[in-house]
Amino acid sequence: MHKVVIIGSGCAGNTAAVYTARAGLQPLVVKGLEIGGQLSLTTEVENFPGFPEGINGPDLVENIRKQAERFGAVYMDGELTEADLSRRPFRLKVEGEWIETLTLIVASGAKARWLDLPSEQKLIGHGVSSCATCDGFFYRDKQIMVVGGGDSAMEEANFLTRFGRKVALVHRRDTFRASKIMLDRAKANPKIEFIMNTAVEEVCDLDQNIVTCVKLRNLVTGETWTRDVDGLFIAIGHIPNTQIFKGQLDLDPDGYLLSTGGARTNIHGVFHAGDVQDRVYRQAITAAGAGCMAAIEAERLLEHEGH
Ligand code: NAP
Repeated sequence: MHKVVIIGSGCAGNTAAVYTARAGLQPLVVKGLEIGGQLSLTTEVENFPGFPEGINGPDLVENIRKQAERFGAVYMDGELTEADLSRRPFRLKVEGEWIETLTLIVASGAKARWLDLPSEQKLIGHGVSSCATCDGFFYRDKQIMVVGGGDSAMEEANFLTRFGRKVALVHRRDTFRASKIMLDRAKANPKIEFIMNTAVEEVCDLDQNIVTCVKLRNLVTGETWTRDVDGLFIAIGHIPNTQIFKGQLDLDPDGYLLSTGGARTNIHGVFHAGDVQDRVYRQAITAAGAGCMAAIEAERLLEHEGH
């Protein structure tokens, strides 16, 4: 029987682990499929306080894990496949084994959103990617396209200019969600070309099982055309990893966990931390802060109950 189980090993989960471990609760952290969460897929993090020169994303999340382990947190490989939150202790199935816990911190984050075109789905891993950091290296001196109009798209486009001959950024509107500094940086990069009011309609070539071109449509004029590309990076946001909890934890229409105040969910003893609940800020530092909040709430509940 565990006192605290944390689902997710990103910035939120690892910070919750630091706090609960330091409180002597020996948290068990279920790493999940994306070990280290989204930070493990980024490059330079320039806005995490305390690092005047910036820090590499994977290093940051790894450091927090080591910090948690130093105080007794235990990390477990695997993914949560079933959860019974109908009574305490809660029951969780991880890699075929049921585990029990008095409190649960859900820090399962969010995963990449896709365009959901059949051709895009078939070519994932064959020229279609959602992670510039992971796959940019393969497109040295190639033609790259990035889809999206937020900070992720700007960041990926800028990063990919290190490799690609040219990076075309395709966005469905003519205004951006991206912050001014990120947009300005992308606009100042001579290797980035902006293609506005445009949607990707199809990715080719399914016969060769490799990306060779995309079919584009101007959403204002209706004009369609084909453009040669070698790599297509989709950077259009994320979907919260909450499917397992559907019907037990309250979710908003997009699947984000609903808070009942602080880090609390609708189930007593289940807390949330990070992007799984946060559709507004979604930063490493806010995820870390949320992990701290969830840990303190779990700790206080356990103390109150005499555990
Ligand atoms: P986002 O801000 O939600 O932007 C998603 C973009 O994708 C929007 O421009 C949206 O277009 C577009 N989009 C969504 N669905 C689409 C579809 N089906 N087809 C075509 N385009 C689609 O997501 P994000 O860029 O991943 O950023 C998420 C959060 O992380 C933000 O708070 C951001 O500031 C933060 N972030 C920060 C940094 C940094 O500071 N270093 C880096 C990355 C992300 P519309 O605009 O038309 O809706």
